[in-house]
Amino acid sequence: MRIYLESLGCRLNYAEMAGLGRQLAGAGHAMVESAAEADLCVLNSCAVTGEAARQTRQLARQMARANPAARLIITGCYATLEGETVAALPNVDLVVGNARKDDLLATIQGLGTRDQETDSSAPVPSPLSSTISRTRAFIKVQDGCRNRCTFCIVTVARGDERSRAIAEIVAEVNALHAEGYQEAVLTGVHLGGYGNDIDRDLRALVAGLLAETRIPRIRLSSLEPFDLAPDFFDLWPQSNDRLMPHLHLPAQAGSDAVLKRMARRNRTAEFEALVDAARARIPGLTITTDIIAGFPGETEADFEQTLAFARRIGFAHIHAFPFSARAGTAAAHFAGQVAQVECKRRVQALHALDAELGRAVRAAFVGSTRPVLWESVLAPREIAKLAPHAAPADAAESIGSGLTDNYLRVLARLPAGVDLHNRITPTLLTQLAGDDLWGSVLVG
Ligand code: SF4
Repeated sequence: MRIYLESLGCRLNYAEMAGLGRQLAGAGHAMVESAAEADLCVLNSCAVTGEAARQTRQLARQMARANPAARLIITGCYATLEGETVAALPNVDLVVGNARKDDLLATIQGLGTRDQETDSSAPVPSPLSSTISRTRAFIKVQDGCRNRCTFCIVTVARGDERSRAIAEIVAEVNALHAEGYQEAVLTGVHLGGYGNDIDRDLRALVAGLLAETRIPRIRLSSLEPFDLAPDFFDLWPQSNDRLMPHLHLPAQAGSDAVLKRMARRNRTAEFEALVDAARARIPGLTITTDIIAGFPGETEADFEQTLAFARRIGFAHIHAFPFSARAGTAAAHFAGQVAQVECKRRVQALHALDAELGRAVRAAFVGSTRPVLWESVLAPREIAKLAPHAAPADAAESIGSGLTDNYLRVLARLPAGVDLHNRITPTLLTQLAGDDLWGSVLVG
């Protein structure tokens, strides 16, 4: 079958579809780039906010319109929480909740196409053509969460914590490295809870990957700022620079009063102490975060505390979200709901702070040399957005785009014929032009 996989939401959703894509290709199916080419489409849905749920419905309708003849399976958090609503969407053949998501390969194998006779003369595109330019692979290592943050619907949709065995993850990373991937990004609903159900922990997993794989880069995706072993950051100095010096630690708020109502398991002092401990052990570390603006009961003074907290930490990037009351969460029923217009004003204030802090972090690394994994060259429409003096000197020249080890996006001029795709090169960070960080590649 020709199969199209689509995902919304978190890195874990992407990791799940990438993993399913590899399984399906291994079973002889062809992965295609669009719903229009497919016999079967799978949408991994998201429900983290009301907006994400709306986008899921919109995308499902678009996929149905693009190819009414194709089968459509919807899985993921929105399908888990609102199964009947999803089943009523046009062209939906099957709704598969998170609890049965791991059986999708068998489910699809048992389905077949709507009209069975496939046009054998149709071109069969190369398998796995949609794998994030095959440079960085997202790896699902655990699912579920035992915490009960009062705003969070994910813990409801994903259920209890369950971890994959270290040996299985090591084998997958080695297989992906053999396929050419240069970076493994570990993902989960609650990465810090990895191993709680199998008498292991995240430290053991990372140590196992460092010892039993040769992939050049290992990165941690979102990591709740609690549950980390005190000696967790000792792994970095022992990793031969294979463990990436970047942590995404969702703070959610910088006011202890708000954190208490969110039922977060840390307060600002613990978060700052964790960051200090990490910075002491990990040279060149950058920290990014998520912050919810307008949580019920959040006063202007609380919000000012959050802005001051973010400024003290010096985040490299802040993902700012307006509070979204999700049915099934405690916070949806809390008193003191903040007006959406005020939530949006606070999000704007966080965006402005993010721009300022982000520039300061990037500027601080100008003059330093970092390893960059080159992922792509800019398309003409992307080049058009660059500052005028940044445009290529001649048509043959291209602009490469890559990620440093500490998660900074870097651009570089590449002379004609130079293709650095999926290569890691030492790169001198030369200047910050507007918001763009430029570098000079230090190898031929
Ligand atoms: S720790 Fe994260 S996934 Fe778990 S309930 Fe809290 S916000 Fe949700």
